[in-house]
Amino acid sequence: MPTMSLQPQRTVAELKELRALTGDADGAQRVAFTDTWAKARGWLREKLAQIPVDVYQDEAGNLWATLNGKSERELLIGGHIDSVPNGGWLDGCLNLMAGVEVLRRIAAQGTPPVTIRLVDWCDEEGARFGRSLFGSSAVSGALVPDEVRNLTDRDGIKLVDAVKAHGIDLDRALDARKELKNAAAYLELHIEQGPVLLSKDLPMGAVLGTFGVERHQITFTGQAAHSGSTPMNHRRDALGGVSKLHLAIRDIAVKHGGVCTVGKVTTEPGIVTSVVAQAMMTLDQRHLDSATLAAMYKDARDASERIAVEEKIGVEWKKIWQIQPFPFHRALIDMADESIEEICGVSSRLPSGPLHDAAEVCRTGVPTVMLFVQSLHGISHNKIEDTKEEHIEMSVRALDRLADKTMQWIVGGGSTGGSRKPS
Ligand SMILES: [Zn+2]
Repeated sequence: MPTMSLQPQRTVAELKELRALTGDADGAQRVAFTDTWAKARGWLREKLAQIPVDVYQDEAGNLWATLNGKSERELLIGGHIDSVPNGGWLDGCLNLMAGVEVLRRIAAQGTPPVTIRLVDWCDEEGARFGRSLFGSSAVSGALVPDEVRNLTDRDGIKLVDAVKAHGIDLDRALDARKELKNAAAYLELHIEQGPVLLSKDLPMGAVLGTFGVERHQITFTGQAAHSGSTPMNHRRDALGGVSKLHLAIRDIAVKHGGVCTVGKVTTEPGIVTSVVAQAMMTLDQRHLDSATLAAMYKDARDASERIAVEEKIGVEWKKIWQIQPFPFHRALIDMADESIEEICGVSSRLPSGPLHDAAEVCRTGVPTVMLFVQSLHGISHNKIEDTKEEHIEMSVRALDRLADKTMQWIVGGGSTGGSRKPS
């Protein structure tokens, strides 16, 4: 039996141990490039020292544990031990500790057919400097050192100096790209951090990919006018644009099966006795399919222009940020689905709203998939983040099952991995 020595209850125990070591009454405190983060990594190294793996830190600060197999081709399993301040006890470290348990099981059975590498990505959360996916974007080549060099934390410390204190030379971070040279597949287990699995009463789901994002700032411009002396038909009310567009955007999201959010609205002059001269809103649109995301964006633009004419006001768009969707590998999604069904008796497929390190690996063309396990309350990045222990144990078993299937798939030539997509 391939799972004989797997002990998923040990993963639960180790996660509690990590929580006791690096958390406090407000939650997990493993913010990257802090002493607590270094302490957590020291603890992880102690765990890894009991397994026959080579451990080292790459140029971008990612920690790798390698179990050599009969082939140089590699199965990668990833997670992140860093947390947001006052974070939960599972985000990032569940993936990692489940991976440690899978490594133990595979190592106990002798030399695996392919090389297995567990990676603790460096600074997934970006909590201190506002740049998420630091280590994985260095490995994918998407990181631009000059864009992050002078980012400062709230004490005025620069990123370039903070990472140096942890053995990272920012100017060499992109050398870590070599780590994916032999990668044939990448697996990441994660808590869902949303309410979808909980609402369907499902323990786990196979992840289809990460959403692409269009994020813009939209400004409507009208005319300030006295709230008493200006008749309604003489007004050019900029807030009318925001109000109408907000409602239009909800319909656009439903029509295309995506999500659209207006998260911030401001008005000028912003006083009780004046018609609004200028109204600004943010728009965040997400979808798994790039053509549909483009259509959602176009619909929103068209609606804003129609509304501007109706309201006799001006409208201007400014891009804040954009990222393409990263659909995961079809064969791996199928195997993830099968693994979940075998362990949980039932599975489903769902997209990921949040970005993950898996998106950066996927960007390079390495076949990638994620497993989600249900989040209680549908909440994360908060100390109340939780998952039933029986679901945590199922998730370790499902990751282990998927690791076995993926090794066979790599041996059977299913993956052409290790080659980078031209960008
Ligand atoms: Zn995470």
